[in-house]
Amino acid sequence: MTSLHSDGGVAAESDRRLTLPDEDALLRLYYDGGRLPSPAGGSLVVLGVRPEDDGSGSLLLECTSSSLRYKISVPKATRSERKKVRTLIDEGGDPKCPRHQGEILVRIRHDLACSSCGVRYAKAK
Ligand SMILES: [Zn+2]
Repeated sequence: MTSLHSDGGVAAESDRRLTLPDEDALLRLYYDGGRLPSPAGGSLVVLGVRPEDDGSGSLLLECTSSSLRYKISVPKATRSERKKVRTLIDEGGDPKCPRHQGEILVRIRHDLACSSCGVRYAKAK
């Protein structure tokens, strides 16, 4: 079946979100469980995690002092991350998120994804 896959569906369906200046640095803090500083002062709290169709994830954040909302895109799993997760599964262990310490992957439809970053790391059996 061929279908035109239209990008930007998420942007169209959600209300306006601001983007953050240094997503990479914030993501590193987020993976480590650290406090996320907000550009407006205060900190950012995670309101929601959403798995995207392409295997990546996105985080919805809100600033505690300004109540502005931001969205961060979480990059897709890399080949080595997928391999790491597959090895864990093959060894009979609980599949864990390669980015989050101790975060067990959950099943989302046909995939195993991290509920903290929304990224899909493996196919569910
Ligand atoms: Zn994760």
